[in-house]
Amino acid sequence: MEKLQNFINGKYCDPIEGKYIDNYEPASGQVYSSIPDSGAQDVTLAVAAAEKAFPIWSKMSVQDRSGVLIRLSEGIAERMDEFVAAESKDNGKPLALAGHVDIPRAVSNFHFFATAILHYASESHNMEGVGVNYTLRKPLGIVGCISPWNLPLYLFSWKIAPALAAGNCVIAKPSEVTPYTAYLLGKVAKDAGMPDGVLNILHGQGGNVGDAIVKHPKIKAISFTGGTSTGEYIARTAAPMFKKLSLELGGKNPNIIYADCDFKEMMSTTLRSSFANQGQICLCGSRIFIERSIYDTFKEEFVRRVEATVVGHPNNSESKLGAIVSKQHMEKVLSYVELAKKEGGTVLTGGERAIVEGYEEGYYMRPTVIEGLPFDCRTNQEEIFGPVVTITPFDSEEEVLMMANSTQYGLSATLWTSDLKRAHRMADQLHAGIVWVNAWLVRDLRTPFGGVKASGVGREGGWEALRFFTEPKNVFIKY
Ligand code: NDP
Repeated sequence: MEKLQNFINGKYCDPIEGKYIDNYEPASGQVYSSIPDSGAQDVTLAVAAAEKAFPIWSKMSVQDRSGVLIRLSEGIAERMDEFVAAESKDNGKPLALAGHVDIPRAVSNFHFFATAILHYASESHNMEGVGVNYTLRKPLGIVGCISPWNLPLYLFSWKIAPALAAGNCVIAKPSEVTPYTAYLLGKVAKDAGMPDGVLNILHGQGGNVGDAIVKHPKIKAISFTGGTSTGEYIARTAAPMFKKLSLELGGKNPNIIYADCDFKEMMSTTLRSSFANQGQICLCGSRIFIERSIYDTFKEEFVRRVEATVVGHPNNSESKLGAIVSKQHMEKVLSYVELAKKEGGTVLTGGERAIVEGYEEGYYMRPTVIEGLPFDCRTNQEEIFGPVVTITPFDSEEEVLMMANSTQYGLSATLWTSDLKRAHRMADQLHAGIVWVNAWLVRDLRTPFGGVKASGVGREGGWEALRFFTEPKNVFIKY
């Protein structure tokens, strides 16, 4: 059985305490590798390496730094098949999804920030006859990047690419549930010519090594993506140490459908926005609100299409849904179906495990549609993060805005209408960091990404990410 290692100071190494934890393949429910159960001592070692590397990396010309990151991006692209297979096996997502979305996006993340940094300018402000102010944007030093399991390399690289491009050294921790592609990244970084100690990748449990990263006094900033309660704990721990914090947290996103939309396009996109990646994307539209005049038509067609959706082994090219990431998570998602029933909901389809022949121990679940629930019940307020959606009719704009905005979350919202005035009006009033009109999950890496309310603090993407990973310094010179 393969034993993964940490990547510290440009070398793969065992965790100092020598402890390991099992890594499961969701598609078969079997253990297939072990990963370091790292702790505070490993963080100390990585910080020492990063401290040594910082003067080299931060003082390297921006063109040279960009060159290393471009080679890193190309290195992933050259090993595309290996990364795609690893991501799918580790996470349970269909191979096709990892091949179309996850790994190509990791390649783009590195390429995007490698080129963005070449154009990252600072402002100057002239005071006529008095002097001039200019702003230096300096890297922070050593930063911590902690990412979740749903889009493993995609989100891992979305953090470390801007951090590195801005001249920081990084201590990064992928989710213990999906460590494999982050493990592979160490070698690609080395081959790309990244100086030792610039990128350090530690594996293990959030409450152990993750906590040690957050608490280390020499780590100046934490960029975290994950659940809201973990984000709250991290904020409580890091804030008194005056660390910079970027928190991308949970969502319970509304998908609002008007009768005047392009029904065909809405239907195929809504199937994706409900169940892509087994519904385990923070941007999935898990609360679907449908204008009452088309509610029955929508329901009939949607349920029919959901029932025709193939749930299967990730390597099967027919599979639209693969396996849920872990047994524990599958059980949590199934418990929400039971809760929905207790709250008065009717399960129109799904609501149970799917058995895939030959992989009976795998964590598969049927895509699930529930109706008849009040907007303010727990099922409609709490993040389920699985292949479960609720459908609810609405009569007026005022009513649907009230329901859409009623949760503690505010990550994204989708709106389907051909009425431009309504689109502008509602986009303005939805409590969300991102609003898609007649689309879902169209991403331009230059745009600000993040949520409001309990969905997070700060923004990633484009200049926002480079600003987060740098400290502005104002210099005034008298004429
Ligand atoms: P978790 O919050 O459980 O974990 C996220 C990461 O934090 C993991 O690497 C985890 O390690 C680590 N971690 C856990 N506890 C601590 C701690 N005390 N200190 C430091 N690190 C810790 O989230 P999930 O992995 O379960 O991911 C799902 C969540 O992520 C959902 O809520 C989803 O909405 C959110 N998400 C948000 C996105 C956004 O952009 N807003 C995008 C994608 C997901 P370990 O794996 O070992 O527990």
